Amino acid sequence: MRFLRFPTLIRSLYAFSALNRARAFRLAPAQATVLRSMPSIPLLGSLFSSSSASSKMSFPDSRSDEDWRAVLSPEQFRILRQKGTEPPGSGKFDKHYPEEGVYTCAGCEAPLYKAATKFKSGCGWPAYFDSIPGAVTRHEDRAYGMTRTEIVCSNCGGHLGHVFKGEGFPTPTDERHCVNSVSLKFSPDDKVVTKDGEGGQSQA
Ligand SMILES: [Zn+2]
Repeated sequence: MRFLRFPTLIRSLYAFSALNRARAFRLAPAQATVLRSMPSIPLLGSLFSSSSASSKMSFPDSRSDEDWRAVLSPEQFRILRQKGTEPPGSGKFDKHYPEEGVYTCAGCEAPLYKAATKFKSGCGWPAYFDSIPGAVTRHEDRAYGMTRTEIVCSNCGGHLGHVFKGEGFPTPTDERHCVNSVSLKFSPDDKVVTKDGEGGQSQA
């Protein structure tokens, strides 16, 4: 499982940095995690719930599981609504590097990532160094005995993947949004995002 090693190492370093270690000695592990995660969590309510907090948050598009099953493929439902992960290297956008365009949520079609923010991470999943502002929501994911930052679509709460920080990639943010291809669709027309400019050709 070579692909897991690098991020795992970085996560371990991050979790046991000097500051956090000092806190962890004084506090129970759960409280230490809460303290560390506060600056990056937009919804404070999520701090006091379990690791499935995002499924309890409310989002503008609040369709039921039944509604989602009707419009998503079984694989999309497993990943977007049940926080699944596609096998590394399997996704259709893993090695997809268009010059322009926008990746949207495969569930609700909200624009999430511009093509210009996608980079080659070698991790086996599409990687972006930044999202469209406000398009993704972060929260702590403590599943499987790890503390990771899950990212979900801010419009429908669909699970996208995780974000990792400080891995040393030469990008403007030093963050890697590691996103399942199954959670995404691609539109070559990114006017969806940049609404300024040439929109006037459609007068008939
Ligand atoms: Zn969505």
